[in-house]
Formats: sequence, C-alpha cells, structure tokens
Amino acid sequence: MREDFCKLQEKLAKDEKLTRDDIKTIMNIVRKQMNFMIKNNIVITPKNYERWFYVFCNIVENNKELNDLEILGLFKEIYDEPYDEIKEKAPEDTEIKQKGMVKKLVRIADIIEQKLAEVINTIDTHNSSIDSHKNEIEQDEEALEDAKTKQTLKKILEELEILKRENELLTNELRKYHADVIRLQGELMTARTEAEIDFLTGLVNRRRFERALLEMINDYQTRGYPFALILLDIDNFKSINDRYGHPAGDQVLKEIALILKTFLRANNIAARVGGEEFAILVPGATVKEGEIVANRLRSTIENRTFSTLEDEIHITASFGVTGVRIDDTIDTIFARVDKAMYEAKHGGKNQVVVIE
Ligand code: GH3
Ligand code: MG
Ligand code: MG
Repeated sequence: MREDFCKLQEKLAKDEKLTRDDIKTIMNIVRKQMNFMIKNNIVITPKNYERWFYVFCNIVENNKELNDLEILGLFKEIYDEPYDEIKEKAPEDTEIKQKGMVKKLVRIADIIEQKLAEVINTIDTHNSSIDSHKNEIEQDEEALEDAKTKQTLKKILEELEILKRENELLTNELRKYHADVIRLQGELMTARTEAEIDFLTGLVNRRRFERALLEMINDYQTRGYPFALILLDIDNFKSINDRYGHPAGDQVLKEIALILKTFLRANNIAARVGGEEFAILVPGATVKEGEIVANRLRSTIENRTFSTLEDEIHITASFGVTGVRIDDTIDTIFARVDKAMYEAKHGGKNQVVVIE
C-alpha cells in the first residue's frame, strides 16, 4: 500500500496523540466503512476491517464521492489486487496478519464509543435545560402586559423549540451511530477471539501462544525474567480415536484442557499447539520448577479416569521441559522442548524429560 493513501495511518502506526479533528475523521471513516461492509455483506474480521479502514480513510481524507463499484476499484488500486469476495468471505480465512493494528482499532472504537456517550449525555442535559427555561419563560409571558416584550419572548420560545427539535434529530442520529459502534466493538472482539482461541478446548491457540512466548523471551533478554516451557503430548492418542471414535478423542482433549486450566496457576499460559499437543508457559520459573509442574500434571493425568460412552479409560502423556536461554528465539526454544518430549517418548512414554 502506498504511504500517502491514508495520512492517519502514520499517526496510528506511530501511536501519536489524536486531535479532536482526527477523532472526527475516524468517526466518519468508521461510519462509512461500516455501512459499506454491512451493505456488501463483508465479514468484519480484523483483516477485512483493517483493509477497508484504509480504503475509507482515503475516501474521507480526500472528500471523494464514490459509488460501490468505484470503491471496489479503489481497493484494487490501493492493494494492487482486486477484492476477492469469495476468499475474503470464506470462514476459513483466519490467517490474519497481526500488526498490532487491530488492537489499535479496537482502542479507537473504544474512544469513539466513549466520546459518543459523552455527546449524547450533553445533548440530553441540554434538552432538559431548554425545557425548564421554556417553562419559566412561558410563566413570565402570562404575567406580562407589554405586547412588544410578549412578542420577543414568543420568538425566543419558538427558537428554543427549533433548537430542541434539532437536538433531538442529532441525538437520534448519534444514538444510531452509537449502537453501530458498540456492535462494531463486539464484532472486533469476536473476530480477535476467534483468531486466538482453540475452538475445541477453549485454550489459546498456537498463534496466541507464540506471541506470549515471544514477549517472555524479550522479557528475559531485557530484564532477566526467566520462564520454563513445557510441552505435553498425549501417549497413543491415535488408538483412543481408533477404539472409541473421534468424538471420544475430542472429549479426552477437552478434559486434558480442563486439567490444565484447573491445576495451573493463574499466570501460567496453557495452549493447544497441535492435535494432541499442549504447551505451557510458567513465568518466573526455573527449569527445575518447570519439571515439578510437569511431573504434577503427568501424575494427575495418569491417575485420572476419563469416561467415554462405552468405557472408563486411563491415559498418559509425555512431557518435555526446558528453560529460556539468552539467545533463544521461538524456534530454538520450541525445537529444544520438542526434542525433550521426543526423548520422553523414546524412553517409554509417561515421563518428563528436561533439557536445560
Ligand atoms: P504417541 O504416543 O507417539 O504420541 O502416539 P499418538 O498416537 O498419540 O501420536 P500420533 O501422532 O501417531 O497420532 C496423533 C493422533 O491425534 C492422530 C490424530 O487423529 C489425533 N488427533 C489430532 N487432532 C485431533 C482432534 O482434534 N480430535 C481427535 N479426536 N483426534 C485428534
Ligand atoms: Mg503428537
Ligand atoms: Mg501423541
């Protein structure tokens, strides 16, 4: 995308303070964009939202009056590819580039929402004060003898009435827009959540986990704050599926997730990172402490009875544990914990292997 297509983009990217006029412009962009997206049945995923935001930014900043076809043309001009209806609307399009932009847009929607609430409030107050002024004036009017003053007051009354009606129109308009923004916030949140949460288990997915992992690695490199990484792979899971069916396998995965949610501390992050693989981040922990956590989980799983429709079954899991190193990347630390987990498999499963 060309840099000068949306001047606001720079400000947003640099997290600069937004002026009142910027907020007004954003409100305008969001309103037009929302109308267009809703009218054209475009799913409000973060990616779609972000791309169309820039299209409408360009339209609003340059006061363009375009019809829908011309808007689609502008999209093509900006992104150097046509807007692909089928691809963009398909539910499997969850590959969303995380550039922090969505977060910013959600925050802006928050700000706008707040501002609107304030404006609507002010107008409401304004209206009731007009009403009380009107009453006072009307009472005065009755007591008056002088025709000229009476005439003037009557005029003021009429003007107040007009002002009030204008206010009401504006309020209704704002209320509609306010409802739009609240809905937008909800949709943005849903889109973000869907992109980060594993549908089956409700744990975070690999994408979200890797982001947390990267933050933890940075924290270690800049502040020396350590953590342990645990990888859990269910043993012989394929045979559970084969014997009891896929839904029973799914049930086991859900119960494992529940064990993780129940037995881990609140600041631990547990994720489903593969079919029957789970990863756990233990902030502040040494490798030794990570090993203790892993062993506790290992024996909890081993001693638990899982119920399928037909049978009560027992399962086990193999664990790899490692700690962060100063030159680690997501790939190197994952490779290490993976290796540890495979050593646990080769060593006979249902065990914890540590690589420091
Ligand atoms: P190992 O002890 O070596 O880990 O053996 P395994 O059978 O657990 O490992 P393998 O990698 O051979 O098989 C993993 C199985 O997990 C195969 C796949 O069908 C199953 N699986 C992956 N995702 C899901 C899922 O979402 N639901 C169910 N029910 N099964 C899944
Ligand atoms: Mg596996
Ligand atoms: Mg397995």
